[in-house]
Amino acid sequence: MFLSQRMSRIKPSPTLAVTARAAELKALGQDIISLGAGEPDFDTPEHIKTAAVKALSEGKTKYTAVEGTTALRKAIIEKFKKEDGLDYDLNQVIVCAGVKQVIFNALLASLNPGDEVIIPAPYWVSYPDMVEIAEGVPVIVRCAPEADLKLTPELLIESITPKSKWLVLNSPNNPSGMAYSHKELEALAKVISDVPHLNVISDDIYERLIFDKYKFVTLAQVAPELKDRILIVNGVSKTYAMTGWRIGYGAGAAELIEVMATLQSQSTSNACSISQEAALAALTGPQDFIKDWIKIYTERRDAAFDILNKTPGLHCFQPHGAFYLYPSCVELMGKKAPSGALISNDTDVATYLLESVGVAVVPGAAFGLSPYFRISYATDTKLLLEACRRISQAISLLR
Ligand code: GLU
Repeated sequence: MFLSQRMSRIKPSPTLAVTARAAELKALGQDIISLGAGEPDFDTPEHIKTAAVKALSEGKTKYTAVEGTTALRKAIIEKFKKEDGLDYDLNQVIVCAGVKQVIFNALLASLNPGDEVIIPAPYWVSYPDMVEIAEGVPVIVRCAPEADLKLTPELLIESITPKSKWLVLNSPNNPSGMAYSHKELEALAKVISDVPHLNVISDDIYERLIFDKYKFVTLAQVAPELKDRILIVNGVSKTYAMTGWRIGYGAGAAELIEVMATLQSQSTSNACSISQEAALAALTGPQDFIKDWIKIYTERRDAAFDILNKTPGLHCFQPHGAFYLYPSCVELMGKKAPSGALISNDTDVATYLLESVGVAVVPGAAFGLSPYFRISYATDTKLLLEACRRISQAISLLR
């Protein structure tokens, strides 16, 4: 067999696949609204683009240090200090081509075959596949609706074995939008403290996208004694609408960061030099536009929530952050579409919505917790509302 066995265990990213399928149908002339990808519809702010153009004209077009320019890593350190009260040294920070590469590097650099990674579901689609690529074992923990789809200390205790190496925490969560409170993190930290071989990847990519009265807090703030066992991963993609620039960063133990950089030196080298200059401008430049965007996201969340939650058969959680709604569609199971097609899982729901009313959503199966589906409201408001009305109408036709 020409292909590696490794590849038989992994699948293409479902979020990217749904987005690609929607684009394909659109190109064929169909009336499609994609609520698939978690990608801000706003353009990258002008001052960030200007910094990239300046970097180009100044010839910043060569290799940088594998782990990122000193200027960018210093800006990241400053951000951690100012916003999260966390202190890091230069050798504790790495810049990669998106958070995807940070996590990928960390897992490949740390997992031995059979090492376990605890992943609370619903989870971001790529974690389990990345663990598989690194020959680890994803241990999926299904979180309960009663706990707002969050990991509880009891569930964590049940999932720990002598082989547990990492726990992946993501708050605000993709796809549920739920965020962990200080108290909830404290309770998890108590469990983690007692298990010295358990480390934590804290995926804080939606950190700034938090609404209402909620306050973002990260595990390392709550439990500073665990800081050396926590790898914080974050990036500029979501906050600054810079998905295509591919800049993510990680902060953690110097020993781990060093091997991640060694691995990166043998694979992709530094993240794009121009993008690093743009990310520097993002982190050090004006931040006031973010609150305007958050206002828009909040209005969209409320409007979409209102339509979907009023739809008989759907139940939404009111998200604390990120830009997703993750309605439960358990009451639709066993119903039939006007075509006669049976709805027996959330993939059927997603297929029905795409085929009947041209709305692309991601089925809960992709996030390890069914039956739900995810919509992204990082979408133009008019289109979003039209899509929600279509979803509601299509669901009312199920019998
Ligand atoms: N993280 C985003 C999402 O969940 C972007 C696509 C991806 O990389 O999965 O839609």
